[in-house]
Amino acid sequence: LLRLMPVRRQLDGARVKLSTFQGPLNNVKEMLRTDNKTYIQDGKVQFAQLQRAIEFVSVDFGYDADYSVLQDITLSIPRGQMTALVGSSGAGKSTLADLIPRFYEPTQGQILIDGVDLRDYEINTLRRRLAVVSQDTFIFNTSVRNNIAYAVEDADEEAIWEVARLANALEFIQELPDGFDTQLGERGVRLSGGQRQRLAIARALLRDPDILILDEATSALDSVTERLIQSALEQLSVGRTVIAIAHRLSTIVRADKVVVLEQGRIVEQGGYQELLARRGKLWNYHQMQHEVSQAS
Ligand code: ADP
Ligand code: MG
Repeated sequence: LLRLMPVRRQLDGARVKLSTFQGPLNNVKEMLRTDNKTYIQDGKVQFAQLQRAIEFVSVDFGYDADYSVLQDITLSIPRGQMTALVGSSGAGKSTLADLIPRFYEPTQGQILIDGVDLRDYEINTLRRRLAVVSQDTFIFNTSVRNNIAYAVEDADEEAIWEVARLANALEFIQELPDGFDTQLGERGVRLSGGQRQRLAIARALLRDPDILILDEATSALDSVTERLIQSALEQLSVGRTVIAIAHRLSTIVRADKVVVLEQGRIVEQGGYQELLARRGKLWNYHQMQHEVSQAS
């Protein structure tokens, strides 16, 4: 427990500054995105585990009142399955995912979890069971060990070691000057993008989330690192409800359901093979990526 003190102090500091913040931080995005909110309505229903589905019902959202980013989103994300969000950059995929931990609130419509409005849940019980692995992993100025265990109160050494192994991070950690004691962050060792992502996966594994959001977690990496991360993500996904956002279709072929977004609207949804057979939007993306990969 003492080992985690510096990290806990940082989190406490953050909590004092951001009075609206409740529950463990997922990443820096969460810190940044809650601090301009003056008030977030909290509910009383305890969230323990997803039983049936997360449902979006005619959801609209805009960062500014005069410009809507998501329009009329109606979507069911079933428990224990992988739902993939596909679409070009700026289509609204990350924004849609950000509504689930309540980083933002819909301007119209409703989001329900097992039939209960998101706003009726006690927000920290929801966020505690949810993890986001995205490109902007936040690294704290502390040891590798504390960076993995930062949101878990009583993580033992064996568990930290095991999640590092599952995340394909153990090898590079052991090669660092002080292994798990190596200091990271501004005054410490700087990790590569692929290493940071594997650290984020280890962190998420240790938190054992019920709902997992993977936001373009394998883009901009060399192919060896991408394979390591892909297999780590597969480990992480087992037995969980996964919302996966990916540029590369190869990473979401095993999705149970694919939702194609264009300019904030759902233009197609269904099974991967079913949509390909329909020769619509997903098929178009598929063809484009095939051409690109053949050309390079
Ligand atoms: P995607 O993840 O599909 O690339 P995003 O959800 O990131 O798309 O963005 C959808 C739209 O919302 C884009 O027009 C983007 O510029 C805008 N946007 C994203 N984040 C913010 C923000 N924090 N503030 C204002 N506009 C944003
Ligand atoms: Mg995005």
